[in-house]
This record gives sequence, structure tokens and C-alpha cells, in this order.
Amino acid sequence: MLKSCGRKLLLFLVGCMFTCLLVLMADQQKRQVEELGGEGGRRALQSLASPGEPEGLPRQPQRQEDEPGLAPREVKSFTDYFSKLSRGRREAQDAGSLAPRREGTPRPALEDITAQDVFIAVKTTKKFHKARLELLLDTWISRNRDLTFIFTDGEDEELKKRTANVINTNCSAAHSRQALSCKMAVEYDKFIESGRKWFCHVDDDNYVNVRTLVKLLSGYPHTQDIYIGKPSLDRPIQATERISENKMHPVHFWFATGGAGFCISRGLALKMSPWASGGHFMSTAEKIRLPDDCTIGYIIESVLGVKLIRSNLFHSHLENLHQVPKTEIHKQVTLSYGMFENKRNSIHMKGAFSTDEDPSRFRSIHCLLYPDTPWCPLNVVY
Ligand code: UDP
Ligand code: MN
Repeated sequence: MLKSCGRKLLLFLVGCMFTCLLVLMADQQKRQVEELGGEGGRRALQSLASPGEPEGLPRQPQRQEDEPGLAPREVKSFTDYFSKLSRGRREAQDAGSLAPRREGTPRPALEDITAQDVFIAVKTTKKFHKARLELLLDTWISRNRDLTFIFTDGEDEELKKRTANVINTNCSAAHSRQALSCKMAVEYDKFIESGRKWFCHVDDDNYVNVRTLVKLLSGYPHTQDIYIGKPSLDRPIQATERISENKMHPVHFWFATGGAGFCISRGLALKMSPWASGGHFMSTAEKIRLPDDCTIGYIIESVLGVKLIRSNLFHSHLENLHQVPKTEIHKQVTLSYGMFENKRNSIHMKGAFSTDEDPSRFRSIHCLLYPDTPWCPLNVVY
């Protein structure tokens, strides 16, 4: 009798826990969809593993106020209770510096910056001048010639005729770790030389919406330590720092994936100089034996102790781009196209051109953002 009662009680408790878990999961998922603008899969995992609040910055509206139906400092339901608990856990993780700082949408303007304050470095290679760069020159670069700097590895007179800022890095054209770091090192030096307020790096398969980029950056002080982008992993990367010939040290840090683009404030870039300027970037990259974007994360998070601010407005083709909602395309900072899990991956939209004419969707996106472009058809229904 006592045994059967015990079993019933146990079953009841398990049932309760299961129900709570379901409610919690549903709530988390709803919030992630709201915050991530519809991203799922890998990104959802990341946001569970990592969110936190920015520190040392003029604060955004409190997250509680951002969340519909959740009054600040008031626990209304079981779901809220659990979400408070998990927020507490995230904050604890943050304190242990495991999670990158997170920002959802652009903040109110803090600085009155213009596009001319931004330095956008586009990494490319000679074999992609025609295959990739032309599309960018026709679309977003055409509107932003004087803030876009193209870092390549071979001379191309035709390219130079099309746009002013072409920099031949003289780095190897290989896709090796060293070659990519060599280009990043030149990007960094040229940015410092430019005197601009913000350094942004993108790949040659990125579309940059400069309007939203400037809006996002204007919410942060360029003289302070700002590193903003999107990780491609759902946890900090583990690496080994070579201290000397036979001394190694394990490190872990977040980094913004180069394929989605990222930005660094001038204040922070200047602090990175001992590890990034001149030939130092290459030797830092050698020290941890990781690619260029990881090396940037290493210098910022591991060496300087500054945390990545996560933004879901940056997109690489390592995420499912179909998940960017049509109605949100104009709000994104970067977009991409390419392969994801062995399938072609691009923004899903009807747009001005068919997918045969415009497989990357960049021309259609450009016409959505700048319908007055001469080659954009009139009266398109999106
Ligand atoms: N890239 C390069 N040298 C190469 C191959 C690629 O500089 O030999 C550049 C390319 O132009 C792009 C970036 O590296 O900006 C990433 O290349 P890709 O998109 O082909 O690869 P992913 O890493 O995105 O799969
Ligand atoms: Mn790519």
C-alpha cells in the first residue's frame, strides 16, 4: 500500500517536472524566435548556451522589458520562474566569462556617425574577382565605394578601374591559415592607417546593408572596447596557447565568424596593436595555430579580456539562411550565400529576379533596399 502510494507520488512528480520542462522549452523557443528573428537550429543552441548582458556600456532597455508579458522584477508564473532561473544561470556563466555579451537589435544612437566613419574590409582572392566580387561591385559596394577596401592577392587592372580601394596584399592565394592571417594583418594595418572609427571585416560572399550597419554601430562608443559579430560555434573554442618551445597553455574564447562579418571599434583596435600590428598578427596566429577570425577572437577575449557582443543581424552561410524572414531582410546587417550542410544556401525571397538569374539573391535584396537602382525592375511585388 505504502509502496504503491510512493510509486504514484513519484509518477505524479515526474509528470509535474515533465510538464514544467515542456512549458519552459516552449517559452524559451518562443523567446528565441522573437530575439533571433526566426533563426533556429545551431543558433538557438548558441543562444541557450550563451546570452548575457553587456557590461560597462550605457545600458540597453532591460531585457525584462523587452520580453513581452514579463514584467520587470516580478515572477508571474512557473514559466517565468524557470526563465528567471535560467537567466540566473546565464549570468553566472557570464561571470565565469564563458558567454559572449549579447545584443538583439540596434540601440538608440549614442554617436552621430556616418558611413564615412566605417572602414569595410572585403577579403577576396584573384580567382573570385569575377566570380564573386563583381556581384558585390554591382550591388552594395556601388553605393559605398569610398568606405569599402578590397584586400586581394593579385594584380587586376580591370578591377582597379571599377573601384578605387583595391589593395594587393601580396599574400599567398591559398586558402591556408597563414595566407588568410596574412590578409587580415594587412586589413588591420590599413584600418589603423585610415584613422576611421570602425573596422568591419567581411568575406566576398557577404552582402552588407551599410545603412543598418551604421545604425548598429552608432549605438556604441567607438573609443571604447567593442567587438561585435556572430559566433558560428555554440560554445567557446578550445585552443592551446604556445607560451614557449615546450610550454603550452589551454585557452577558451568566443570569436565572431569571419564569414558573417564582424566589427571592432577604433578604441579596441588600438589596444590590439601589440598582437595585431605589423608582423605581430601572423606570430599571434602561429601561437594558437587557428585561422584569422579565431585569432582576432583570441586577441580580444583571451588576451585583452574584452567580450564579444553577439549580434544576430550578421549572417554567414554556415547557418540556414532560409530562416531569415522576408519581412526582416532589410533589418539585417550582413547576409551571405553558399553551401550549408552540403546544400545550396541563400536568402529565401521572391524578389526582382528569379533564382536562376540571381542565385545568391543579392541582386533581389539590393533592389529591395534600393529600388531606385537603374537596373532594378519597377513595380516588383515582394
Ligand atoms: N579566400 C581566399 N583565398 C582562397 C580562398 C578563399 O582569400 O584561396 C577567401 C574568399 O575570397 C572569402 C574567404 O576566403 O572571402 C572565405 O572563402 P570561402 O567563402 O570560399 O570559404 P568558406 O570559409 O566560407 O567556406
Ligand atoms: Mn564563404
